[in-house]
Amino acid sequence: MAENKNPSTKDYSEMTACQLKNEDPSPEADKIFKKPQFVCGLCGSKTHSAANLCNPEAL
Ligand SMILES: [Zn+2]
Repeated sequence: MAENKNPSTKDYSEMTACQLKNEDPSPEADKIFKKPQFVCGLCGSKTHSAANLCNPEAL
């Protein structure tokens, strides 16, 4: 039941690029933008996984 609020243990794999824009930059967050395969139809962010976009479209 203890919440872990350590920022270094955030799970970015389930966050959208839109959400990450409000987060502090981190190497872990950068990973989702490597070799982009999808683009967000709303904000224009490009990520490797569609799971990280709020409105993913294939590049
Ligand atoms: Zn978006």
